[in-house]
Amino acid sequence: MKITDVRAYALEVPMTEKISAPIGFPRAEEVEGVVFAAYRSTLVFVDTDEGITGVGECMTRLSGTALRDICLTLKPLLIGRDPRDVELIWDIMWCTMLNRGHVMGFYQEAMAGIDCALWDVWGKHAKVPVWRLLGGATNPKLWCYASSLRLRAIEVLRDEIDMHKDNGFNSMKIKIGKDPMNWRSEIKTVEEIRKHAGDDIMLMADVNCNYGHDMKTALEVGRALHELGLYWYEEPLYPDDIDGYAYLRDHLDIRIASGEADFNKNSFARFLRRDALDIIQPDAARTAGITETRKIADMANAFRVQYAPHTGSSSNIIMTVSMHLAMYATNFLIYEYMQSNWNKTQENPLRDQLCTLPIKEFKDSHIIMDDVIGLGIDINMEVVEKYALP
Ligand SMILES: [Mg+2]
Repeated sequence: MKITDVRAYALEVPMTEKISAPIGFPRAEEVEGVVFAAYRSTLVFVDTDEGITGVGECMTRLSGTALRDICLTLKPLLIGRDPRDVELIWDIMWCTMLNRGHVMGFYQEAMAGIDCALWDVWGKHAKVPVWRLLGGATNPKLWCYASSLRLRAIEVLRDEIDMHKDNGFNSMKIKIGKDPMNWRSEIKTVEEIRKHAGDDIMLMADVNCNYGHDMKTALEVGRALHELGLYWYEEPLYPDDIDGYAYLRDHLDIRIASGEADFNKNSFARFLRRDALDIIQPDAARTAGITETRKIADMANAFRVQYAPHTGSSSNIIMTVSMHLAMYATNFLIYEYMQSNWNKTQENPLRDQLCTLPIKEFKDSHIIMDDVIGLGIDINMEVVEKYALP
């Protein structure tokens, strides 16, 4: 089997109205008009001479056309190769820009889309699900949490908690940190959430890096969250602050989680060697695909660190990719099952209409996947054509 073509599409759905940042992160108010101006996704299709096509997705927060162009530029490196040689093709892509310093950022996200499409081709050719190629059904039921509650009036939050509980979730994540100077007030709301949810609901908190400039706040909030029995404390600091995370982990009892803004096994290895994290959260659409994310999860396992895939605001493609990785990884902890869009009044067609998640059953906070071959993704090309940028 040989690769005959690589096609890429930058999809963008503009917001019908300007929205404020749905999460707190440094300078959110200044950049929200660009970052949250549209739902975006970049799709990659890899075609073969046996009529099998695989699909993948690049993490796209800005400039999908840049990602699309990188994928198309790499095409000559793939044409004629066997798509099942995933390690070789990954390494060829990596080495193309390695000594130019492109070991992070857009280049890695472009590699992710291509790599996931290769695994999809391999699974379809072998007529098995991708999780089978990875090593089998280590976790046939995937424990999930609802992502995410945003701090608002407690009456609204109570309704949202009830909805998630009614839908079968026993675990939820809370976005905090929007106002670092006002953290005590946010903790009071978290306390209300805990009271309403009850002690049998697992809660986590996600700061999206907003205490990166202030270690004391990061420590005080971490202690307060631990008192309220929260399970993990996610991204309190800047993504590359290894010393800071190691310090926090030494000084706090709550588990420290991070990794959604990290890119490759070398950067994760630096955190693991320093014992800086309890939980890693790589996103396969950012960490250069399934080939690299598997290595990151396995490496973390050797450091007694659990794997909780980040899925974020990407499409159902990468949500599905992460399910396959979660099915396989021995140190898999819990899956981020997104339940919210950036804009409360505008659905995201790149998530809901592009393809459906291969879920056979969701019960008691666990997903059982459909019986699929490859990734199990069936793309609605009308959505691709409707939202593809020229
Ligand atoms: Mg997060």
